[in-house]
Amino acid sequence: MIKKNALILGLVLVLAGGAFAQTAAPAAPIDFSKKTLQSERTRTYDALHYLVKLKVDMDQKSFAGEATVTLTSLRDGLAAVVLDAEEYKVTSVRNDYGEPLAFSQSDMELAVTLAKPAKIGETVTFTCAYAGRDPKIGLRFVAASADNPKIVYSDSFPNNVHHWFPCYDYPNDKVTCELVITAPAGNKVGANGRLVGVTEDKTAGTVTYHWSQELPISTYLIFFAAAPYIVVHDAYKTLPVNYWVYPQDEKKAIPTYGHTPRMIEFFSRTFGYDYPWQKYDQISVPSGGGAESTSATAMTQRVMVDEADLPDFPSIGIVSHELGHQWWGDLITLRSWAHTWLNESFGTYSDYLYWRYEKGEDEGALNLANKLAAYLREAKTRYIRPIVSDRYDKPGDMFDSHSYPKGARVIHMLRAILGDEAFFKTLSAFLHRFAFQPVETSDFIRTVKDVTGQNLDWFFDQWLFKPGHPVFDIGAQWDAKRKVVIMTVAQAQDFTRGIPVFRVPVAIKVVTAKGAVTTPVWIKEKSETFEFPAETKPLLVRFDEGNVLVKEVSFPRDLDELLYQLKSDDVIGRMDAAAALLRFKGEARTVPALAASVKADPFWAVRKASLESMAKLGGAGLPAALKQATRDADSNVRMAAVLALGDLKDKALVGFYEDLYKKDASVRVRAEALRALGKTGDKSLGPFLKQAADVPSRQNLIKRAAEAALKQIEGK
Ligand SMILES: [Zn+2]
Repeated sequence: MIKKNALILGLVLVLAGGAFAQTAAPAAPIDFSKKTLQSERTRTYDALHYLVKLKVDMDQKSFAGEATVTLTSLRDGLAAVVLDAEEYKVTSVRNDYGEPLAFSQSDMELAVTLAKPAKIGETVTFTCAYAGRDPKIGLRFVAASADNPKIVYSDSFPNNVHHWFPCYDYPNDKVTCELVITAPAGNKVGANGRLVGVTEDKTAGTVTYHWSQELPISTYLIFFAAAPYIVVHDAYKTLPVNYWVYPQDEKKAIPTYGHTPRMIEFFSRTFGYDYPWQKYDQISVPSGGGAESTSATAMTQRVMVDEADLPDFPSIGIVSHELGHQWWGDLITLRSWAHTWLNESFGTYSDYLYWRYEKGEDEGALNLANKLAAYLREAKTRYIRPIVSDRYDKPGDMFDSHSYPKGARVIHMLRAILGDEAFFKTLSAFLHRFAFQPVETSDFIRTVKDVTGQNLDWFFDQWLFKPGHPVFDIGAQWDAKRKVVIMTVAQAQDFTRGIPVFRVPVAIKVVTAKGAVTTPVWIKEKSETFEFPAETKPLLVRFDEGNVLVKEVSFPRDLDELLYQLKSDDVIGRMDAAAALLRFKGEARTVPALAASVKADPFWAVRKASLESMAKLGGAGLPAALKQATRDADSNVRMAAVLALGDLKDKALVGFYEDLYKKDASVRVRAEALRALGKTGDKSLGPFLKQAADVPSRQNLIKRAAEAALKQIEGK
């Protein structure tokens, strides 16, 4: 699941790259510990199968049909079955002999009286006839617009299936299901599982799709959508992989989704569990995010991208995230929303794993740094909570930056502690042991013990069941006499609200002229001192080599060390140094070092970080350096350069910006060039900007930038 805001956030992070601007934030305004205490739902029966036959009228926004429910009693003497049911009227209930059963319906429930009380283990079947119109949630009828054709699709997450058929709507019960959906001719209907058949009724002008989900899933994963889709066929070995797109997006299907077979291969191998379902469809819907309905992911249409815009709007983040859920969320599923991390932290770690696989080590490190920054933003500005929390007012409360990026980083720490072999063996064992079952956190913790022999209760206790993270105050000094580096480590977090003193392994790297030595140490106390041998004054002392920990750090270093780090450390260290050099504004060596980094660093995010620091420091050479950076190979750097150059408000650069607008390959850079024109305040640009405002572009970026620039030159 990726919610609308998370998607926007995700894209911004991926594109902006820089995750290092951390400003002091006000105290957390939300107290999660005061939210409602929740517990897993108790049930009296085990739902086995739903057969839903539904006719949808997309003009009237109505639906009518019947749902056949098969269940086994978990009680002796079960006299009545209570199902979740909202926003439609049930007109009859009959048992499998066709005999009417007594029933009553309230706003939220349907109670069916069985012909005779069921014994424990006894299976009963009955069929409910019902009809409804345009429900507020659960099933969305959307009129045709410039963005989408007329469409009806289910939006069942997190517990809204019962707004379109009566069922037990909580994830601790898994069912098989069949959807037989009749829609107006001209539409195609996608859904979970295997396509049993398609029949047309020419007289009625309808088409009926019969889908069968033959392996058990939780109800919120049940999905269908009907629209005049174009289905673009692809495959992974013999597995059908299909992209259901709107007619206008046909050419974007392969640029957007073409990585999917490679991802299926990668995840099957990495998780040690073959893709579990009969096919994989990705189906365009008008919503803002993605939802991992089993074997039929509902994907926002906004992800669709053509070849030209692909470098600026990569789709593999959300595509791999939703695909990862086919294992983490669909094969195994959270038993209650307290355990959301088992879906979302693993889904988010999946998108990291693929990003790293596809784009290499530096991009992987940046992806993880962005995830940490997203969590820290939430922790500093909104709230902290334990990742596993039975306090929430609604399931949606749990879909936040604790469940997504923090949990992903916690999984990454676990991997560092276990080592790759034991870590991936554990993931595979967990999936095999609990396949097609609902799970809770203790199931995972026990699997770690069983597979690795390690009791990591201390790890899970502090990272899953307690809130917060360590805030380290680090100092390091070289003792020339004793030839050692003395490092002081203090945990300076606020210890209220249950935030613990953390116990963490961490790697310390000491670099001298003779080479680098990395030493693992354990931090266990509020305040500790460590010593590391160093024959000469270190060029660099690096805390948390490998960037494993969820943490904040304050670690002042001198100019020489930062200049060395800017040139020689890993990407995260180099970005960190670029930001930290702002403290040395008056030093003659600072700006030339940053300028060299902007010109020559091999990784774009470091060039961008150095450029941003340079722009803050100013100086005579700045315009020339920024102009040069507008020719960088990476559009993120070019955009940052145009943004900073624009802030100089130099009218002499009008021609330069016009040229960039006309020639740059990136729509984001071109839009930024228009904004830079606006910042010059040059009123003669009116006609040029008005013309630009009519140019079509992805997400109307050009139009919006041109209109903002127009306002600016008109002094509005
Ligand atoms: Zn997700």
